[in-house]
Amino acid sequence: MGRRRTVVVVGVGAAGAMVAVRICEGAVRRGRALDLVLVEPGAVAGRGVAYATDDPRHRLNVPAGNMSCRAEEPGDFVRWLCRHGVPEAAAADFVERRRYGAYLADTLGRAIIGARGTVRVRRLRTRVAGCRWRGAGAGARVELADGGTLDADCVVLATGAGPVAVPGWASEGLRASGRFVVDPWAPGALDAVRGDVLLVGSGLTAVDVALRLDRVGRTVHAVSRGGRLPRAHAEHPRPAAVCEDPLDGLPLAGLRAAVRRHVARVLRAQGDWRPAVDGLRPLTARLWAALSEEDRAAFVERDSALWNVHRHRMPPVTARAVSRMRRTRRLRLRAGRVEGFWPGADGGVVAALATAGGTEELAVGWVVNCTGTHPPVAEGRDPLWRGLLADGEAVPGPLGMGVATDGGRLRGADGRAARALWTLGAPRRGELWETTAVPEIRVQAAAVAEAVLDHLGEDGS
Ligand SMILES: Cc1cc2nc3c(=O)[nH]c(=O)nc-3n(C[C@H](O)[C@H](O)[C@H](O)COP(=O)(O)OP(=O)(O)OC[C@H]3O[C@@H](n4cnc5c(N)ncnc54)[C@H](O)[C@@H]3O)c2cc1C
Repeated sequence: MGRRRTVVVVGVGAAGAMVAVRICEGAVRRGRALDLVLVEPGAVAGRGVAYATDDPRHRLNVPAGNMSCRAEEPGDFVRWLCRHGVPEAAAADFVERRRYGAYLADTLGRAIIGARGTVRVRRLRTRVAGCRWRGAGAGARVELADGGTLDADCVVLATGAGPVAVPGWASEGLRASGRFVVDPWAPGALDAVRGDVLLVGSGLTAVDVALRLDRVGRTVHAVSRGGRLPRAHAEHPRPAAVCEDPLDGLPLAGLRAAVRRHVARVLRAQGDWRPAVDGLRPLTARLWAALSEEDRAAFVERDSALWNVHRHRMPPVTARAVSRMRRTRRLRLRAGRVEGFWPGADGGVVAALATAGGTEELAVGWVVNCTGTHPPVAEGRDPLWRGLLADGEAVPGPLGMGVATDGGRLRGADGRAARALWTLGAPRRGELWETTAVPEIRVQAAAVAEAVLDHLGEDGS
C-alpha cells in the first residue's frame, strides 16, 4: 500500500460540490482510499453564489431536466424534487434556485456518506489564500487565510468567477456615498436599500434584483447600453434545431451571416427562434476556440450583449412578473450610458444618463451595479489567483479572461500543463466562452474528477 493521497477542492459552490461528488463516487468505484479536503468560507457547502438565495422569486433559468448534476442521468434533479416536496415536478419546470442549492448540498452529503471507509472528508470553513506548487513528487502547499497550511497531491480550484469588479462608471463620489451596491449577490447587500433605485445593467442579475426590490411606491430604473432585457423561455419549449450550414473554421463575419441564416430558417419553419439558438450551444466552445484573438475581441465588444439576451433567457414566470412591473411602471428601462453622479436630496444620488433623447437627470435613493463584470484574474482581488499567476503556475486565458488550461489542467508560464492543479467553470471562460452554467460545469466536473483519480493512480500507489 502506498501513502494515502490528499485532494484539496478550493471553493464548494456548484462546481466544487460536483467535483467532490464525482471524486467520492470514482474513488469507491476504483477502490482508491484518499483524503478529500473541501475548503469553502460559506456556511453551507454546495450552494455558492447562485443557489444561496432564499427568495422564492429567484428561479433557475435552465429547465429542471437540464440541471441534473450528472449529464448521463438527466432525470436525477427532477426525481430528487419529486421526493423532496415537489411531487408534481417536471423536466420543463423552472424551479426555485434555493431548491437547487438544497439538491446540491444533499447530493454532496449522500456522496460523502456513500464513500465512507474509502474517502476521508474534511470541511474547512475558510478561504485559500495561496497555493505553491512544489514539484511532481511533492505536490502543492495550500495556504489558508486562517494561517493554516495543507499538503496536497492534487488541487481543484473551483472558485467561480471571484469578486465583482468595481465598474469604471462608478465615480469616487458614488462609491463614497454609501448608497452604491457593487455586488448585489454579496450576503445582505440589498438590505439597506431605500427609495427609488437605479440598476446599471439589464441582464439576468438586474431582473433578479428588480424582483427582489419590487414594492408598492418604489420605481426601479434600469439602464444599459442596448436597453434590452433577457428574452423569455417559451412556455412550451421545442427541441434544439441543428444548424444545417457548416460553421467550423468560419471567421467572425462568416459566422455572423451563417447564424443569421440558421435563425431565420428555424423561425420560418417553427415560428420560434429559440430552437436555433439552443442548437448552437453544443458548438459554442469549438467555434470560440477556432476564432482568432481579434475576432474573439470583436465578438465580445459587438455581439456578446445580443447573444447573451437570446442565449441566457428568463423563465416564463419571471418574464410575467417583469411584464407586470413594467406595465405598472414600477420597472422603467432605458437604453443609455451613465455619465456621472452627484449627491441628491436626503443622502440620495442624482445620476446623469445619456440617452437617445439627450441627458436625463434621475434622482434615486440607491444605485446597484448589475453589470456582473469580473476583472481579469491578473487584476482581480483574489490573492490565490494572483499568487498562482505571479509564480508562473498559471497564465491568463485568451483576452485575459480566466486562465489557460489543457482540459482543465492549469497551464504554467512554461506552456506546459504539468502540475496537478485543475480548474473548472468561470476560470475557463477565455478558453471556452460558455462555461459558467450547470450543463457545462457538470461535464467538466466529471472529467476533472477522473483526471484527478487517474493522476493519483499514475505512480501505482
Ligand atoms: C444569480 C445567478 C443565477 C444563476 N442561475 C443559473 C441557473 O439557473 N442555471 C445555471 O445553469 N446556471 C446559473 N448560474 C450560473 C452559475 O454561475 C453556475 O450555475 C454555478 O453556480 C457556478 O458555480 P461555481 O461553483 O463555479 O461558482 P460559485 O457559485 O461562485 O462558487 C464558488 C465558490 O468558491 C468559493 N471560493 C472562491 N474563492 C475561494 C477561495 N480562495 N478559497 C475558498 N473558497 C473560495 C466561494 O465562496 C464560492 O462558494 C447563475 C449564476 C448567478 C450569479
